[in-house]
Amino acid sequence: MNIELTAKQLEFQTQVRDFLAGKLPPELAQRVKFGKSVSKDDLIRWTRILNEQGWAAPHWPQEYGGTGWSLVERHIFDVECRAAHAPPLSGFGFNMVGPAIIRYGNEAQKAQFLPAIRNAELWWCQGYSEPQAGSDLASVRTTAVRDGDEYLVNGQKIWTSAAEIADWIFCLVRTDPAAQQQKGISFLLIDMNSPGVQVEPLYAFNGKRLWNQVFFDDVRVPIVNRLGDENRGWTVAKSLLGDERLMVSRVSENKRLLGRIQDVLHQADGQGLEVQSLSAKVAALSIRLQALEMTSLRILSQADSGHTIGAEPSMLKLKGSELVQAMDELLFEAVGYWALPQDRSAESDAAIGPDYAEYVASGRYHHRGYTIAGGSSEVQHNIIAKQVLGL
Ligand SMILES: Cc1cc2nc3c(=O)[nH]c(=O)nc-3n(C[C@H](O)[C@H](O)[C@H](O)COP(=O)(O)OP(=O)(O)OC[C@H]3O[C@@H](n4cnc5c(N)ncnc54)[C@H](O)[C@@H]3O)c2cc1C
Repeated sequence: MNIELTAKQLEFQTQVRDFLAGKLPPELAQRVKFGKSVSKDDLIRWTRILNEQGWAAPHWPQEYGGTGWSLVERHIFDVECRAAHAPPLSGFGFNMVGPAIIRYGNEAQKAQFLPAIRNAELWWCQGYSEPQAGSDLASVRTTAVRDGDEYLVNGQKIWTSAAEIADWIFCLVRTDPAAQQQKGISFLLIDMNSPGVQVEPLYAFNGKRLWNQVFFDDVRVPIVNRLGDENRGWTVAKSLLGDERLMVSRVSENKRLLGRIQDVLHQADGQGLEVQSLSAKVAALSIRLQALEMTSLRILSQADSGHTIGAEPSMLKLKGSELVQAMDELLFEAVGYWALPQDRSAESDAAIGPDYAEYVASGRYHHRGYTIAGGSSEVQHNIIAKQVLGL
């Protein structure tokens, strides 16, 4: 089974490859390749390189700095970036709040936020989940009560990724406690430096600060920082991903992981590892990946030609995130016992074991969250059962 790109798409692919070969800093690519953490400064640098080329926000309308690429071209761009080990840009600004501001923001909000997102001057985090509101997001309890030209915000958000480096947070808050669940919610943009905002870390079991809790204690938010109408925040939240909801298949990430597995097996060959016995598993994952890419490209092409897309993104999200976890497991197995040490050598601070093994366990633990974040697998199954199977 082969995926054949058109001549124009192949030309585009070459253009992207040439750009990455010339502009992606090699030391940054090397960090990404081995799963090492990438600093905010590194991400700012890379975002600005892309922005200079006009490619930081390919999916935005051209008048706001987008590229006008088709969904398939965006897929090609994504795959090439991952293959070259470019770090993904912050999704909160580029994929979530940016498109929402484009759709629901007024001119002042567009001017204030969009260029700053594109040039990595403003960093965002997402304040949706609360201790009692995850899958059932419409149960949010954080309140925003009008007081003159401002809202007074009180409550708590949880699992807020990147809050420790964010300048702003986009939040779902309850503005009408008497209204039915979804109807009394508004969408606020809140400056993280406002008095009364407090951020507390939450650590994942690989030791990384993966999330935070964000507390709001009488935080004053100007009403002009509301996106969309009052009590219509649910509509903004639902539209947040727009076309982005189609880009959830993680094909490019899976390709990168498969490449890593093949690299490891190549390097480990002859060092006592059971390379042959793992080959059948590599082949099985590679077939799953091909099926995922075919399905994803089929849906993207349909969307490019104007077809309405229904529950397909749920299938892509489910299969893509499960495949990442299967890739992780095989990578872990391929690396063998070198995946286990979490510490570095006391004498030299060097990795214990080969370079390629150091962050394999950490990556595997990190990716466990993929089947929860952005809508858990069970919730995706429910959507497919209802919308596709009519159950
Ligand atoms: C890596 C990661 C990053 C995240 N980043 C953010 C962030 O930046 N901002 C943010 O706001 N949130 C973030 N989240 C939170 C995420 O959105 C929630 O974890 C998710 O919505 C699930 O909510 P919950 O954890 O409250 O679990 P719950 O909703 O309580 O679910 C618990 C279990 O019950 C199952 N379940 C729930 N409802 C149903 C149902 N109707 N039918 C069948 N099964 C069901 C779920 O699948 C799950 O297994 C992040 C989560 C992860 C893992």
